[in-house]
Amino acid sequence: MSDRSHHLVAVSCGLCGADDPQPLGWLEDIRYGTLPHPVQLVACRVCGFRYLTPQPQPGSEALFYPAGYDPYRRTGWTATARRLLLRREVRVLWPYLAPPRHVLEIGCATGELLFIIRAAGNPFVSGIEPDPDAARIALRHGLDVRIGTLETLALPSTAYDTVLLQHVLEHLPEPGRALARVAELLRPGGTLVLWLPNGDSWAARCFGSAWMGYDPPRHRSVFTPATLLRACAQVGLEIIDEHHEWHGLEWAWGLRLLARAKGWRRIEHTLARLHFAAILATTPIALAAALARRSGRIRILARKRVPGS
Ligand SMILES: [Zn+2]
Repeated sequence: MSDRSHHLVAVSCGLCGADDPQPLGWLEDIRYGTLPHPVQLVACRVCGFRYLTPQPQPGSEALFYPAGYDPYRRTGWTATARRLLLRREVRVLWPYLAPPRHVLEIGCATGELLFIIRAAGNPFVSGIEPDPDAARIALRHGLDVRIGTLETLALPSTAYDTVLLQHVLEHLPEPGRALARVAELLRPGGTLVLWLPNGDSWAARCFGSAWMGYDPPRHRSVFTPATLLRACAQVGLEIIDEHHEWHGLEWAWGLRLLARAKGWRRIEHTLARLHFAAILATTPIALAAALARRSGRIRILARKRVPGS
């Protein structure tokens, strides 16, 4: 096995660039065990942004993504449940996804969301994905997907009505720069749809370092609605909606990861076996968190400002 510690490098704030971190705690890769040592969660003293340091060196990410990484899976009941949830999202977001809108998904993995949008009636969908294996699956489904990232691919400016970032922003080494690039790609009045973990949530507080939303080192940073609002405003994006997910997924996962972190093997195995039941059982808590606008999983809509308006 390659020594992963050589591929972890100290970084400064991914939003404002300042190198003035306030330590918040230590995180381990409880889920997949890819980290050779704990990494620090810090808050930038200048802008409040929370991020990990050290982080995987850009280009070495593959070392920290296991072969069975969930978002790349297309079979099994978790994949089925994810597809059902995505179909619901597409119905809700249809005013932003309907043809003739041009829709771009950044980090589209195997293209599930794009496939659902196309099946719902919009052929003008395209995506980019850095993982060649995941992208090839999307290509086999006849989707217009290019292998690469926002930095490596030349994409046309102001060409898209809607850009989708589904649990991607927290994976990017420079999220501030990525948001600026997304704002360039959108036409004035176009919409960015972002799904991401919310660091200012009940689940984050309750589970601490075992919170599913940290997922180090794959997630390099943790946004809150407040840091996201500032980051969007800086690049001319105005937040127009903040939706809090209400199902128990993150609570069921939080309990499992907490049991694993504590070394409670039997409880962990029981929770894994009863994962679906645990999701149902914890949904009332998730619902209460959503009503209090403190869910750990949020969907943000941001509109690109129209000059002169
Ligand atoms: Zn900062």
